[in-house]
Amino acid sequence: MQLVNNAQIMGVLNVTPDSFSDGGAYLCPDKAVEFALAMIDAGAHVIDVGGESSRPGAEPVSAKKELSRILPAIEKLRIRAPEEVRISVDTYHPEVAAAACKAGASIINDITGFRNPEMIKVAVEAGADCVVMHMAGEPRTMQDDPFYVDVAQEVCDYLLESAQRLEAAGIPAERILLDPGFGFGKTQNHNLELLLQANTIAGRIHDAGYRLLVGISRKSFIGAIFGTNNALDRDEASAELVAALAASGADILRVHNPGLTRNVLANMTAGAGREDTSNVAYIALGSNLGGPVANIAEALCYLDMLPLTQVKEIAPPVMSEPAYDTDQTPFTNTVCCIETQMGALALFSYLQAIEVDMGREKTRENGPRVIDLDLLSYNDEVIDLPGLTVPHPRMNERAFVLDPLREIAPGFTLPDGSRLEPASEVYGAITAQIPLELLQSEINQRKQQKLRAARRGNKDSQNPYDWNSWRGSS
Ligand code: ADP
Ligand code: MG
Repeated sequence: MQLVNNAQIMGVLNVTPDSFSDGGAYLCPDKAVEFALAMIDAGAHVIDVGGESSRPGAEPVSAKKELSRILPAIEKLRIRAPEEVRISVDTYHPEVAAAACKAGASIINDITGFRNPEMIKVAVEAGADCVVMHMAGEPRTMQDDPFYVDVAQEVCDYLLESAQRLEAAGIPAERILLDPGFGFGKTQNHNLELLLQANTIAGRIHDAGYRLLVGISRKSFIGAIFGTNNALDRDEASAELVAALAASGADILRVHNPGLTRNVLANMTAGAGREDTSNVAYIALGSNLGGPVANIAEALCYLDMLPLTQVKEIAPPVMSEPAYDTDQTPFTNTVCCIETQMGALALFSYLQAIEVDMGREKTRENGPRVIDLDLLSYNDEVIDLPGLTVPHPRMNERAFVLDPLREIAPGFTLPDGSRLEPASEVYGAITAQIPLELLQSEINQRKQQKLRAARRGNKDSQNPYDWNSWRGSS
């Protein structure tokens, strides 16, 4: 079980009139410094000061304007902040980075990924840490039509190549932080894919000797998951997700709400590996495209690999008539019980990410699907957001949910303590039972494949023809 207590929190300080969630609030240097000190009190280890908004569609600002906004704040903050707190400057202008470092910043956070050689020179001269972010294009146009074959792999390749360029220029590996750039030239599906692959991305970055920084705080892809338009309403989900990313290996968490993030991290760390503090969730799985049993097995493997999460019990699958939209092939369904240290909002985001990764297309309501993952319940929590209702409001009218749920949770109750009773009209009648062993063997096959792949990975990194590695093992 991974622990998450060594991740560091970077608090965002926007000294801008137009940032997407707090533009204009801290344009006055004194207000900016007070806010930064409050973030430090709440748990921030680093303050990232920015003078230009990089929200999609934002217009560029001159270096002079940017400097006039951030320099007074950095100078004052360096005097008043505890020594161990580091200041980072969020800029892609070399002259701004240089002046900020003279004024007390020791990290350069460049959303253009140090593509400008002048920026590398500044970092070398200042001895600053470098945050290299991946962004396809530039803020003004980046969301126009982003395309990747494999977003996680391409972003990771790009970051590692950039890091090597920095190392070649004289910046030591331990001063290089890599940021996949959630929301920068990525579609909703790309962002979810990055989330799901964070563990692999972190592994590659750590193996190469660098650190992983993630910034998802208040971004619109979180709003899109939950249907929340107001950026400030996204803090809870942001904190839960960034804590899950920390469990996946992220080293620095760039957030707008350090206090909330610290609390979620602390709860997660305290609960990790302890059954008595685990959260219990029930999830319904359904499929009627491709090999439905194999698809459900694949989804269950994914669930078991989510950060700080384990599948505890799986109901025997059933075949059922298509519900609501009857013009399609029969479904296979089951329900599983999981234990997790993730919050409900993070868990639901990952359910969407698994659906996306497995090729779910939402073109026809209640139509054919490779995989459908519905969050039936999460402890006794009640959630009522535009995009997420828990307990699932229609679970009592679906035979293919009620029956499997009864198998593994005969005493299932709703948050108000009442028992789950079937609705007056129930859809998706069950037509056949599928032995649990069939699903289990599909799951085991996949687990073995993944194990073999992991072992092959290890062998590759240890050259079998290398005399030194033989000596070590004999
Ligand atoms: P289905 O009702 O067949 O699961 P979808 O998977 O297309 O249909 O879900 C429709 C919408 O329901 C999703 O966009 C999702 O945001 C929303 N939704 C609300 N609450 C839940 C929940 N508890 N579990 C899954 N989806 C939910
Ligand atoms: Mg669904």
